[in-house]
This record gives sequence, C-alpha cells and structure tokens, in this order.
Amino acid sequence: MEASDKQGFVDGVFHQVAARYDLMNDLMSGGLHRAWKDALVNTIAPPKAPVRPWRALDIAGGTGDIAFRVAEASGAPAEITILDINASMLDVARARAKERGLSDRIRIVEANAEKLPFESGTFDAATSAFGLRNVPDLAAALREAHRVLRPGSRLAVLEFSHVDVAGLDRLYDLYSFNVIPELGRAVVGEAEPYRYLVESIRRFPNQERFAAMLRTAGFERVTYRNLSGGIVAIHSGWKL
Ligand code: SAM
Repeated sequence: MEASDKQGFVDGVFHQVAARYDLMNDLMSGGLHRAWKDALVNTIAPPKAPVRPWRALDIAGGTGDIAFRVAEASGAPAEITILDINASMLDVARARAKERGLSDRIRIVEANAEKLPFESGTFDAATSAFGLRNVPDLAAALREAHRVLRPGSRLAVLEFSHVDVAGLDRLYDLYSFNVIPELGRAVVGEAEPYRYLVESIRRFPNQERFAAMLRTAGFERVTYRNLSGGIVAIHSGWKL
C-alpha cells in the first residue's frame, strides 16, 4: 500500500473497531496488554502529586488506556493529553474519562501525530502504545514527539516487536495469522481490520532498527526492553 493511501485505510479500520476496541484487546492478548501498558507507564514514572503543573502527551492515544493510567498514577496538577487522528476512538476515550471522573485532567486533541499542534517544549513526558505502527510517516512522528518535549524529558513507546525466543516465534505466527482475524470476525463482524493488525506488526521495524530511528529523530540515551519474549518492546529515549 502507498504511504499516501495508508492513513485513509487506517482511519477506516479504527472507525470500524472503536466500539469493541477495548474488548478485542483483552480477548486477543488474554488480558496481557494491561500488564504491558502498566510497564510503559512505570517507564515514565509519573510524579505523585507534582508541585508544579506536569504535562504528559499520549500519542495515538485511542480510547485512553495509557492516559488514564498516567492520570491515576500521578496526582493533580498533572494534565494528560490524548492525541489521536480518529474521532470514533476519541469519543470512546471521552466517555471513559467521564466514567472514571478524570475529565478535568484529560485533554482530548484530534490531530495527526506527524504534525503535532503544540509549541516546542510543551510536555514533561510522552508515551505511545501500539500507535506509531499505524502512522504513515513514522520518522516525522518521532521528530514531532522530540520537538514537543521539554529538554530533560523522555518518550516511551510500547509496540509490537520481534520475538526473540526460539519456538515462540512459530507459535505466535500461527496464533496471529489464524486466531486473531477469526476473533475479529466473531467480535467486530470483520476479519479484515485484524489482518491489517497482524501484517502491520510484521512490517514494523525490529528493536534495533526502531532504536536507530529514535536516535535519528534526536533522542539520546535510547534503550529498549523486551516483554513477553519480544512480542512487545518498550523503547525509551531522552530529549537532552
Ligand atoms: N494507544 C491506544 C492503546 O494502546 O490502546 C490506541 C492504539 S490503536 C492500536 C492505534 C491508534 O493510532 C488508533 O486510535 C488510531 O486512530 C491512531 N492513529 C493512526 N494514525 C494516526 C496518526 N497519523 N496520528 C495520530 N493517531 C493515529
């Protein structure tokens, strides 16, 4: 698919799955995505009851899972911005923020991660979970994440990555290509969005290549750690 067609396709996928997105995550990962997301939030270590305003940005934040965790881990006056290009995903995020009593600390912004509508140096931390894989110009999104962070702050990214455990890779392929699209058909009524999910995981740069992309975007002290045998990895980079 041409990069120029990708965004329209991705938008269609997430409009289609938004209402069942959270349920599907639990079903596909057996609930594991919750532990992976907790690990991502621990990586940025949100301050408890910060003495000055503290701002975090969750890029491609979808239905809000990361932003809610960050908001709950830190006290007021922390403010968390969910940025996403998809209004259907953000509608779910808005409703969930209200249910959790977090509406006053969660800001919702509909925009493209490739061109963030914020001034340089605005945020004290940035996160992205399972989002950057979907952005057509990944390098631009990383440059933008770097630009909007203030010096001395960090980006942490949770993404599907490349399995590094012999045997697990074959099992994971079998599960991904056979079970996940069928789960999609049963729960969302369509297998196609979940075929896209599996294929986009295969195309995403592996751990070392993604670390190199973070460095190219300007991040320093770039590190990563694998979770669940490399099914996912958390990368971290600092703006110094
Ligand atoms: N971060 C959430 C989570 O972990 O549950 C949502 C991840 S969901 C798999 C991917 C999200 O990326 C979708 O909400 C989609 O709308 C968003 N997205 C895709 N392209 C984007 C872009 N160019 N800019 C911002 N968000 C984008």
